[in-house]
Order: sequence, then C-alpha cells, then structure tokens
Amino acid sequence: MLDILAYLPAKRKRSPNGWLSFNAVCCPHNGESSDTRQRGGLKVTDQGWSYHCFNCSYTASFVLGRTLGFKARRLLGWMGVPDSDIDMLNLESMRHRSIHGILEDRQKTFNVLSNIAFEEFDDLPPFSEVVTPELKYHWDYLRSRKVPQDYPCMTAIQNDGIHWVRPHITIPFTYDDQVVGWTARFLDNKIPKYINHTQTGYVFGTDLQKPEWEHVLVMEGVICALSISGLAVMHNTVSDAQARLIRSLGKPVTVVPDQDQAGLELIDRAMELGWAVSIPSWGEHNKDVNDSVVEHGKLATLLMIMQARETSKIKIEIRKKQLAKRLRA
Ligand SMILES: [Zn+2]
Repeated sequence: MLDILAYLPAKRKRSPNGWLSFNAVCCPHNGESSDTRQRGGLKVTDQGWSYHCFNCSYTASFVLGRTLGFKARRLLGWMGVPDSDIDMLNLESMRHRSIHGILEDRQKTFNVLSNIAFEEFDDLPPFSEVVTPELKYHWDYLRSRKVPQDYPCMTAIQNDGIHWVRPHITIPFTYDDQVVGWTARFLDNKIPKYINHTQTGYVFGTDLQKPEWEHVLVMEGVICALSISGLAVMHNTVSDAQARLIRSLGKPVTVVPDQDQAGLELIDRAMELGWAVSIPSWGEHNKDVNDSVVEHGKLATLLMIMQARETSKIKIEIRKKQLAKRLRA
C-alpha cells in the first residue's frame, strides 16, 4: 500500500490529536500563494487518511475499500506520487471492499459521458453505520418500504451529545458511485421529517439505472425512487439543471407524480419539458409509487406506470384534471 508519509515534506510536526502539519502542497494549484506556515494537515488511520489545508481550504480523503476520488488523485499528484502508483493504490483499495464497495458494485451509468460532476461529500451524520438485520427496527422499516437490501442505507444509534438522537434512516446520495450528499428521514412523527444535504442540480437514482433499460422514471421522493429504481428530483418541480442531468441519460422520460396537490405542479413542469406523464390507478389510498410498490409489488407497479403513460399534452391535461377532481372530492 502506498506510504503517503513518504511523500510529505520533511519538515513537519505532529499534534496530540494525530494530525501532521506541514507546508501545504495544494495552494498554488488553487490560485493561492504557497503556504509557508505549515497549514497543511494530514491524519492517517488504518482505514485511510484525510487531508485539510487551512490556507486554501482544499480537502481530500481516502478510505480503503473505495475508489480513489478525483480530489485525492490530484493531491497525490501534487505531492509527487507517480501516476502508476496512484492507479495501483486505487486497485489495492478495490480489493478491500466495504460499504463503499457496495456502491462500487452498483451498475455504472453514462454519467461520466454527460460531463456533469458533483463534489464528493464524505460527511455523513456522526456515528453512521450501515443498517443490518441486527438493527431490527431500522431494518424492518426499510424492508416494509421495499427499499432494496443492497442499497447502503445507514443510521446512527449513538450520538455525540450534540447531534440528533431521533430514530432515522440516512440514505446516501451517490453519483458515479461517489457519495455526494444524503437525506435523513426521521421515523418518529416529529417535525422536520427530513434533513437533506444535496447539491444544486442533483438527481437521486442515476446509479440505480441500467444501460439496457429503455425508460427512465422520474418521481418526487427518494424512497419511491429506491423502491422502483427510478429517479427522484426531491421537489414538486424539476430545476433546469436537473432536467439537463435527466436528459443526459439519453432515454425517454416518464414523470410519475405523487397523487396530491404537489403532484399537480410536477405534471405542469413535465409538460413544459415535453416529457411523458403517468398517473396510474393504483388505488385511492395509494398516494405515490412507494405506496403502490408496498401494496402491489415492483413489477405490477411498473406495468401500471407504463400502461398509464401519456405522451400527448391533451391527454396529460385530461388526466391531470381527473386527478385534481379526485383530490377535491
Ligand atoms: Zn492549500
């Protein structure tokens, strides 16, 4: 395994909490003057390392078992690590798969080609761990919502005295199999119901898509998207940046609105974008895709969505009016 310490400047000091400080190597590459006050910090653990610069604010990290990210690659390059050694580190890391390995196993999509990128985001809530059957309450909740077992949903049951202790599920947001944000859904009935850490233009679920699939389904909620391998825009509208990302997948788009007031707005936006809309009759008591998957299963729900798919604006308007009338009733 690459010994990153061998590439640090010789002049360095160690703080009691394990950080090594030295003159940062990043700043001139980020439009700042060279660091002369040892403001670069590196902390090595047995699982990897973190780098933080207090001069230009560059950060990068590496965790054994996951892909070496873009920022970590750049940092190693600035330190003078040869490209071949950087690639080797990545390969070795892949032999130690963990939670991040689960993400790596997921189908790669065309995101790389689309030239759309998001910042890597490593800060999940403190003490987050993958939900396993041992965490029965959380595990049962996920299964009851038909969230696939291989998606690395997380929770934290400890707390550090500052952060929440409310029961919750954290769903990591990934893009090209890197974590780029997350949402926490609380399982008690208190407000707020969700906390989101997302980035402008992000669409959940691109990593769930498979190249051979002929359609993409767009809906509002993350749990809906997880339960049917769709995309979630997480609002009752689609921003221009999100629309670009969805278009970059290169497939016909079908919007499946929640069958509520907010859903009506999503239908208007879908028509504006020229996308198909599907408002299936999956039972009055079922409000969204996830409700239907829970009652009818994934395959039946998919069939209902495809059968109710409308591409003509006139027909979509009719379906929308029927839904609006049903909501008033
Ligand atoms: Zn710097």
